[in-house]
Amino acid sequence: MQWPEEQFGFETRAIHAGQAPDPATGAVITPVYMTSTYAHTSPGEHKGYEYSRSHNPTRSAFETCVANLEGARYGFAFASGCVGATTLIHLLKQGDHVVCCDDMYGGTYRLFEQVFRPKGITFSYADLSVDGALEAQLNDRTRFVWLESPSNPLMKLVDITRLSQIAHAAGARVVVDNTFLSPYFQKPIELGADLVLHSTTKYINGHSDLIGGVVVTDDQDLGERLSFLHNTIGGIQGAMDAYLCLRSLKTLAVRMQAHQTNAMAVATYLQDHPAVDRVIYPGLASHPQYDLACRQTTGHGGMLSCYLKGDLAQARHFLEKVRIFTLAESLGGVESLVEHPAIMTHASLPAEVKLKLGINDSLIRMSVGIETQADLLADLDQALS
Ligand SMILES: *Cc1c(COP(=O)(O)O)cnc(C)c1O
Repeated sequence: MQWPEEQFGFETRAIHAGQAPDPATGAVITPVYMTSTYAHTSPGEHKGYEYSRSHNPTRSAFETCVANLEGARYGFAFASGCVGATTLIHLLKQGDHVVCCDDMYGGTYRLFEQVFRPKGITFSYADLSVDGALEAQLNDRTRFVWLESPSNPLMKLVDITRLSQIAHAAGARVVVDNTFLSPYFQKPIELGADLVLHSTTKYINGHSDLIGGVVVTDDQDLGERLSFLHNTIGGIQGAMDAYLCLRSLKTLAVRMQAHQTNAMAVATYLQDHPAVDRVIYPGLASHPQYDLACRQTTGHGGMLSCYLKGDLAQARHFLEKVRIFTLAESLGGVESLVEHPAIMTHASLPAEVKLKLGINDSLIRMSVGIETQADLLADLDQALS
């Protein structure tokens, strides 16, 4: 079914793209097609669906919608962000090289170092926010430049447009993990990237009730190769989870706005608090890359980090005292979470890497939810006192 998406705004497309009323019944909401297989009328004659690893109508609706929101033609929904990343690396072969930003998601780092490096793919890591850093890492085997912006947990930004130009000139493709901002605030493909990855576990699903991933591209060759790998490796998202992600996309815009409003209030509050050493939020003018943030994104999202004054004991005290903020890994849900990267999400990084990056015992990461703003500020106030 053709749907004239270009002329509509983000919110309209989030609610309608790929989601025409069900042709069989007129159901306004895309049904959950819980089926593994589909009837043929004659061998090889069917309605476009043969087996749900290859295609499933609920998953296809979600893939169409999320690709549309990222400004891309091809979307592939996965059982997790990690298997999305795994499938992307399967576009490469032994001897190929990937340049990554240095403070990337710990699980992606573990996947690259402990699963793919032993199989002969090489990875180098650099602070790609520094001029000349990418050029210094590129070689004639570099196939991917893998970016997160803002990065996790230090909220460093990279200039996606500039780095894409440099990568393309060297014959490499650019992958952006857009989990932190979602397509509502950042559209990497419009900025020049080739591939976008999300852990849909986070903002896209937004309700902390499933694990999922999605990869999108607007490049026909990459789209066809990924379609093959998606089906052949088979790390697909199940119909029920695809339904939940599709349902969540409908409110992505209002959720992201609410996350940002609360995150800005929390960042401003913490910045002025005597128990806080430094707040890192791209929406604060004090962020070293505030200008790039305003140029590259249409908003700053709900993630922030801060250094508390004192040592591990002070950080532990704060993390044990919060009441509305839940001490937990993960991010991007409607509820506020707080965590300690050095002990929790980034524990798998070697100690010297953590030290070099600035992931120390005073660093706290927050995923600011969409609860009543005054309640969040009061909670922080009592926990910091
Ligand atoms: C959570 C996360 C991932 C991994 O996704 P899973 O859904 O947990 O497999 C990748 N990148 C970022 C930035 C994440 O936050």
